[in-house]
Amino acid sequence: MISDFYGRKSTEDGGRSVTSQEDVWRADCATNGFTEGRLFADPGLSASRFATKARADYDALVLHIQSGQCQMLTLWATARGSRNLAGWAGLLDLCRSKGTLIRVISHDRTYDISNRRDWRTLADEGVDAADESERISENITRGKRTAATRGRPAGRLTYGYAREYDKTGQYERQVIDPAQAAVVREIVQTVRDRGSLYGLARSLNDRGFTAPEGGLWQSAHMGRIASNPAYAALRVHCGEVIGKAEWPPIIDESEHYAVVATLREPGRRISRGTALRWPLSAVALCGKCKSGKLRVHRGGPTRTYNCPECQRTSINGDALDRFVRGRVLERLSKPDALEAFLPAGDDAQLVAAQKEKKALEDQMEGYYDAGLSPAGLVAMEARLLPAIEEAKAKVRRLSMPAPLRELEGVDVVGTWDDLDVALRRRVIEAVCSLRVDAAVPGRPRFDMWRLAGTRWTGDTMTWGERWTEEGL
Ligand SMILES: [Zn+2]
Repeated sequence: MISDFYGRKSTEDGGRSVTSQEDVWRADCATNGFTEGRLFADPGLSASRFATKARADYDALVLHIQSGQCQMLTLWATARGSRNLAGWAGLLDLCRSKGTLIRVISHDRTYDISNRRDWRTLADEGVDAADESERISENITRGKRTAATRGRPAGRLTYGYAREYDKTGQYERQVIDPAQAAVVREIVQTVRDRGSLYGLARSLNDRGFTAPEGGLWQSAHMGRIASNPAYAALRVHCGEVIGKAEWPPIIDESEHYAVVATLREPGRRISRGTALRWPLSAVALCGKCKSGKLRVHRGGPTRTYNCPECQRTSINGDALDRFVRGRVLERLSKPDALEAFLPAGDDAQLVAAQKEKKALEDQMEGYYDAGLSPAGLVAMEARLLPAIEEAKAKVRRLSMPAPLRELEGVDVVGTWDDLDVALRRRVIEAVCSLRVDAAVPGRPRFDMWRLAGTRWTGDTMTWGERWTEEGL
């Protein structure tokens, strides 16, 4: 009998790497008089649904079985075969159709899956564990379904509200937080009066109110709060109002629709600043003296940014604004934009969010490893995958520099020119360190190479080095 082995390194294998699995396989062959056949191993790749990389050797194994050359497939444990249940069932079907035996070393058994009982043993492995998880999952889904139909809050607490719990920690109700609710009403009123949201943000900060995610209020918060149906006690599911919520309203429904209409008025700029006019004033470092920050100068016919320290660097204002705007929007449009600008230090909230994400992923991995029934696995995925996605989004959000965090859910690139200048400036400062070198005599006054010393936050290369690499 030829024994072909498939091994994979898994995080849940008690530290048994492919190499040690391989040793066990060789010993298994020696003990039982099997001939060592082909070895398929995909070290380091998770077999779970979270793994996106193709498992090359697994595919080769499937081809090998399909060719009819595989007499016996040896696995360390059934979870090594495929943790994706559909994949596992497919592998069993394939082996059955080709007459391939499956040997599971950890069971010290060889299964002939043309035998119905053997097939069942492998297909239903871990029935007890499945039962247990089904029971847990059933209780949880039942609770969730009830919450949805009764209009109970789900997920993150909305600014303006507090949640009350009984002595055992069970959720009782969502109530109005009077101080925050007053802020919500003030925001709604300001939008309806077409007042300055920038001014309101400043005033809230001056009065010591903390923004929903902590930190300072920005005009970008206002539109989101003013248009949130939750304040009219309307329940939203997937972007649509689906009915009345259980919690008390802060504004009434007609007011909510009125404020939404105001925000949709054409030409309504929800956040236009007045204090600052030029986004790059005091942002770009002078490359000549390396201490001055270029400031707007409007002495001549054109606006320029000049170095107030050495007076040696001057650059066309409109051209610099336009160029930097272009680069920053291009950078923010890339899919990795937010991950790329990691915060400098560690952040307790971020660490907590990362732990939460890891715990959920480990939990799911545990279910994959437990060899649940297909129904059990589907139920656990339905419950955990959305939570994992949410946890990932949270980590992503907390990984953003604070100015980008304020803009979560805002189409930064699409609304860039409507954002107030102060916010645009903070975003620019968060994503890059601008440096403008003095003009080279004989070259045009605006030349992008004068910004060659600029660097994206967290990037080891300068813009100039990147441009050179790109062959510009
Ligand atoms: Zn200077």
